[in-house]
Amino acid sequence: MRRVLVINTGGTIAMTADDSLESVKPLDDQAVRRILPHLAKYAEVRMLTYANLPSPHITPAFMNDLRQHILSELKTTSYDGIVVTHGTDTLEETAYFLDLTLPLTVPVVLTGAMRSSNELGADGPVNLISSVRTAIDPASRNKGVLVVFNDEIHAARHVTKTHTSNVATFQSPQYGPIGTVTKRNVIYHHVPLAREYYPVEQVEANVPLIKAVAGMDPRWLSFLSEQPVDGVVIEAFGLGNLPPAVLPALQQVLDKGVPIVIVSRCFNGQVQDLYDYDGGGRQLREMGMIFSNGLNGQKARIKLMVALQQTRDRDELDRYFEQ
Ligand code: ASP
Repeated sequence: MRRVLVINTGGTIAMTADDSLESVKPLDDQAVRRILPHLAKYAEVRMLTYANLPSPHITPAFMNDLRQHILSELKTTSYDGIVVTHGTDTLEETAYFLDLTLPLTVPVVLTGAMRSSNELGADGPVNLISSVRTAIDPASRNKGVLVVFNDEIHAARHVTKTHTSNVATFQSPQYGPIGTVTKRNVIYHHVPLAREYYPVEQVEANVPLIKAVAGMDPRWLSFLSEQPVDGVVIEAFGLGNLPPAVLPALQQVLDKGVPIVIVSRCFNGQVQDLYDYDGGGRQLREMGMIFSNGLNGQKARIKLMVALQQTRDRDELDRYFEQ
């Protein structure tokens, strides 16, 4: 029998709906523990309550502690796979952080639920069962950290939460899922590119994420240049363009040696330094901003935080974002 460790961190999968108050809130971890008997058919499962947090409470420091905990568990016990249950709001950030920083020896799968444990059509049990089945499947090795939701297997790098309440919320725009969990088996139909791996000790960088909007007030960005930030990620327009009014404030940020990474607020496509007008990508690039490679804003932020533990050199950071 294969062995799986399920690490619970909280989220709706561990929550209960109170119909009289029309609210959903965390209880103890019983909601997830009740799924345990359904897992016994597939694997010998040890379930560990690591935390019981709604995922808006998750921080990069927590992600790093979780990473260290997974490593220490793997050092002391032999498992065929690890499953982490997590709130869906920030699940993609934790999944991508672990993808970048875990030396993976066995499959690591993140999952959760959109409907709490006592709601009709609760999706937690089936998501957890699918995740355990994915974690024990030999084909899941060497595919990076995986997110299993609604019978689909997604690569941590591309998956994102796309719907506030639908159980099919996790999608990989532009790329699609890499596999499917069917009633009989786990089937992969895509192989992700080689995974990037960066060993980190801690993640302490302060990296805000800013979204560009039409006619944005440059004063907010001047304020930023006075703050102790280590890096900035900007969700720019389209192919990677900004309103010209914000450029002087961003130049001040760059002059302080703070790297700025440009991603797009479009959720499909890559940014490129193509447009040659005031505020266009070409000018941003000439100012020294780094163009990312198809990551969304929240993931580019995680990557910059991780990269800043390796280097502060702009050209090296640039190379990190070419991958
Ligand atoms: N707000 C919840 C959380 O992220 C949503 C969920 O788990 O589905 O903790």
